Amino acid sequence: MLVGLDIGGTKIEGVALNNTDHNITARYRVATDKSSYDCFLNSVSNVIEKLKAHGDIDSLGIGCCGSVGLDGLMQGANIAVLNGRNFLEDLRNLFDHPVHIANDADCFALSEFSTGAAKHTNNSCVALIIGTGCGAGIILNGGLVTGLNNLGGELGHNPLPHFQPNQDGQVFTCYCGSKNCIESFVSGTGYSRTFSEKYFSASCEEIMQLYRDGNKQAIDHFELYCDQLARVCGSIVNMVDPEVIVLGGGMSNVNEIYPRVNAKLIQYTFSKQVRTQIVKNQNGDSSGVIGAALLPLKNM
Ligand SMILES: [Zn+2]
Repeated sequence: MLVGLDIGGTKIEGVALNNTDHNITARYRVATDKSSYDCFLNSVSNVIEKLKAHGDIDSLGIGCCGSVGLDGLMQGANIAVLNGRNFLEDLRNLFDHPVHIANDADCFALSEFSTGAAKHTNNSCVALIIGTGCGAGIILNGGLVTGLNNLGGELGHNPLPHFQPNQDGQVFTCYCGSKNCIESFVSGTGYSRTFSEKYFSASCEEIMQLYRDGNKQAIDHFELYCDQLARVCGSIVNMVDPEVIVLGGGMSNVNEIYPRVNAKLIQYTFSKQVRTQIVKNQNGDSSGVIGAALLPLKNM
């Protein structure tokens, strides 16, 4: 069986998939112990041991916050004790199985490509997370593109295309040090931030409620948001030209996004004949953990 773990700052979730149709045969979840690296490793081991009771493990895939640096050490994880550690090597020492690791966006892409909204495609999709942050996973020729520097899909920290202060608001410096990062506008955090900058402080849910109540400011802001997202998707098409772009994360649950962004897409693509569809994910909260389990099959 294929085992996948989705490791986040709050919980560690594990699943076992059978080798043939990749259905989930077991699922287990624990709180993430962040008190020390050894305690953290112990909680990861516990999940794997529990899943082992359901069959022989053929491979282990890990979807994890943060990323693996070129030196093999973890970086940028919101589990502080994990940063600077060679997590992959420690796992390989603990378990006698092949171990693969990727970030949440890559796992999301694999999951949707294999069993979700992009499973009907021939060989390509881009999965874009618009949640607390913004990142993407790229599938080309049926495989995950991680890249030479493990930076494939990190488009959340490219600048917002066609940024103009009179429509998009003030220049904003991201925590990464760059200005006007895509994440600062199209993530849920960005959607709320830009609304609050222009009008008054409100959460994403509050803005969407105002929008549905016919509030003019919320309508204007949502139309701007869909335009910004269409610019991002247009850049993806111009660069990768995938068959579909699958949206995930909290903002992907706003159904009004899809007709608007699909209609605006051709304004921002080089050719005005575009077949790429922007669609909602199908695997929801299970995307990360299913994609993690499939990592050994799809890594390029
Ligand atoms: Zn940034």
